[in-house]
Amino acid sequence: MASKLYSIFSLKCPTCHQGDLFPTGSFSYRQPFAQYTHCPACGQPYFPEPGFYYGAMFISYIGSGFFCLGVVMFLHWVLGWSMLASFAALIGIVAILFVWWFRVSRSAYLNLVFGYKPEKAAAAEAGTINVSPPTTVKST
Ligand SMILES: [Zn+2]
Repeated sequence: MASKLYSIFSLKCPTCHQGDLFPTGSFSYRQPFAQYTHCPACGQPYFPEPGFYYGAMFISYIGSGFFCLGVVMFLHWVLGWSMLASFAALIGIVAILFVWWFRVSRSAYLNLVFGYKPEKAAAAEAGTINVSPPTTVKST
């Protein structure tokens, strides 16, 4: 379970935990929706079928919904901010986090489908897997 959480939040390949899922940093905001076609370390496909990431939208929706409720409730009820100020702060927070959350949702969905394979991780670390350099897919 801890290794799943590591893979999800470090945005690493679910199979080997070494290759990146995305070519750019989440907070660089460069190419925010570009994703590798496959793992650069072990070759695990990141797009196993068309429309694969529709399921990630539900993770994103549920997580962001409760997050937004929590932020507004905390600012309004606990800190006593006005409703307008609470929502203005929420918009600012979400504007900063949306790329990261989009990626974590995809990473979580990929981790639901694919598990960690120690033999793949060992082979990727030893460099015995011949993987072609991944291209990026700009998904919407
Ligand atoms: Zn991998």
